[in-house]
Amino acid sequence: MNPDILVIGGGLHGLSAALQAARRGASILVLERHFLGRHASGSTAAGVRTLGRDPAELPLSLEAAQTWHKMTDLVGDDCGFKACGQLQVAEDEAALTSITARIDRLAKQGMHHEKLIGADELRDLVPKISPHCVGGAWVPGDGSADPHRAIRAFRDAAKRAGVDIIEQCQVTSLKRIGQSWQVKTSKGDFNAAVIINAAGAWADKIAEMVGEPVRQAIRTSMMVVTERTGDVVHPVISSFGRKLSFKQTAEGTLLIGGGAQGRLAEDRQSASVDVQALSVAVQAAVRLFPSMVGTRMVRAWAGMEAMTEDHIPVIGFSAKVEGLVHAFGFSGHGFQLVPSVGRVVAELATEGKTNQQLDAFNVKRVSEKGVASC
Ligand SMILES: Cc1cc2nc3c(=O)[nH]c(=O)nc-3n(C[C@H](O)[C@H](O)[C@H](O)COP(=O)(O)OP(=O)(O)OC[C@H]3O[C@@H](n4cnc5c(N)ncnc54)[C@H](O)[C@@H]3O)c2cc1C
Repeated sequence: MNPDILVIGGGLHGLSAALQAARRGASILVLERHFLGRHASGSTAAGVRTLGRDPAELPLSLEAAQTWHKMTDLVGDDCGFKACGQLQVAEDEAALTSITARIDRLAKQGMHHEKLIGADELRDLVPKISPHCVGGAWVPGDGSADPHRAIRAFRDAAKRAGVDIIEQCQVTSLKRIGQSWQVKTSKGDFNAAVIINAAGAWADKIAEMVGEPVRQAIRTSMMVVTERTGDVVHPVISSFGRKLSFKQTAEGTLLIGGGAQGRLAEDRQSASVDVQALSVAVQAAVRLFPSMVGTRMVRAWAGMEAMTEDHIPVIGFSAKVEGLVHAFGFSGHGFQLVPSVGRVVAELATEGKTNQQLDAFNVKRVSEKGVASC
């Protein structure tokens, strides 16, 4: 099996690029070391958020936001997306001032997706919020999705488009011979004209194989889910200046995350929960929603993904070798970007170019700077 394009990594970014490249007529093979969605894509909070994004990501994020509202057109399923809104709460006047300044800056750049709200509107949206909160930023069209449903939907759509997928297949070496890549794996050798590096927390290992050392850290973000509880909140909530994201699922469970970091195993292959760090996120949630006190936690986990120093991804061609497209380093907020980044990566891989402005995502910036920190 020697495809036009070989995708390394069966997370959502690999699957999205594979699907959209196949629809452009290329033959595609996705290789996944474990099973599809084993890492970040299967452990994500699946928040669909334009709110508070780095301005460099906003063009891709705003495009993705539109796609999430009609996801069925892309993959034949809505991936459990609910436009319940995302709300960044200001817990004091200083936070509200910072949020106001950000919304003003965005408006000057012609972006009006974030709306400033005061204390009264905040309480209308979230009646159970603690009385100390003074307002926030509100994006009604944001929301959240179901990550496992999204993985299934992207996988099935990719297969329908003719993409071949091999799981339990680890890429072990890459060699460019003429206009082709020779790819050695745990399940044999393949040749392909173009490689897409969507290997998440191990994208640096892939880059290393082609002599393009990339400095990245591994994020080990944690999540905790509670028992089912009464009606607490409808939007996805974050708090300015705190590592917190908080939402209630359709089943009534509460999902708390937001960037509290777990423990990375020494071999860099897995991460486990750090109860002390997780308790900080839980306390932040209880501070916002005092009615949560007494709710039992059911399960906690940690997921792994690459993080860059400036916390925005690497998207684009290798600076070192021909025929390699990178898509990694989503730094804890790549779920929302899956449809638009997949479109751009597919264009690069099939047509060798894109009209999307990608300067901010150039791989050179992570080859040249120091190791990222959380
Ligand atoms: C706890 C947590 C919460 C998050 N919450 C949000 C959120 O609310 N909103 C948001 O937008 N984003 C969120 N994110 C981030 C988002 O989930 C990720 O950015 C996104 O899933 C990354 O997808 P990916 O395909 O790049 O990586 P992954 O899903 O990690 O896929 C990479 C795959 O590559 C495979 N691989 C690696 N090396 C090889 C090899 N040599 N050969 C073959 N396969 C290989 C791995 O096994 C892995 O399956 C969160 C992440 C975590 C961990």
